[in-house]
Amino acid sequence: MDSAVPFYSLGEWSEKFPWILAGITYKGSATDPFDLRLEDQKSRDRMERIWQSAGFGGLVRIPQVHGTDLAVHDSDLAGLIVLEDSADGHATSGPGMLLAITVADCVPVYLLDSENRVVMLLHAGWRGVASGIINKGIELFSERWQSNLDDIYVHLGPAICGSCYEVGPEVFENLGLIPPAEPTPVNLRAILEEQVSNLGVREDRITISEHCTLCSGGDFFSHRKGDLGRQAALIGIRP
Ligand SMILES: [Zn+2]
Repeated sequence: MDSAVPFYSLGEWSEKFPWILAGITYKGSATDPFDLRLEDQKSRDRMERIWQSAGFGGLVRIPQVHGTDLAVHDSDLAGLIVLEDSADGHATSGPGMLLAITVADCVPVYLLDSENRVVMLLHAGWRGVASGIINKGIELFSERWQSNLDDIYVHLGPAICGSCYEVGPEVFENLGLIPPAEPTPVNLRAILEEQVSNLGVREDRITISEHCTLCSGGDFFSHRKGDLGRQAALIGIRP
């Protein structure tokens, strides 16, 4: 990756699975932060720099709506693709295309089937967590690729942490938790970890980023902090 792209590689996976590229962009420059929120020319140029410098043939974005629809890319795509239909997750077993989701506090969920060589990326805010987007992801693995649960790896990327993310009782209710009397922090990544573990993914194959987008100084965009910008989580099978 070009050094002009502020990017944290998902180191543990990069070593274990040299056939993928996985990680997340961050703000970088204070005066010209690496914002990928919009579909404007600047953002398109940045996306292009990402896939080109990483040696990929293209990059796919999805219009995220806090839903649970997932897209699959199995054809030979190229260049910068923005799907028309909304989706909050996507997957591919084809090499050469980077999957992207944009986040600023929501959880980027990276998934991988090490045997069938499939990668998946989900966008999980509280609505996605409440509606079981991770269940949909695991279902997609088994329906589409007949994946074995023992071959599934999950990484919960940089997101707002369980100390910073204060929400109202209605969010607790939606998440199936006992609603507190007043706004209380909730840990979305802990809930996702429990969900995916209950689905049968091996606990030693679930990892969680230590970064909080708000409090841990990782130079991330944070919606709660008042940022309008978004970083992009990325995963792809190397060409
Ligand atoms: Zn925090």
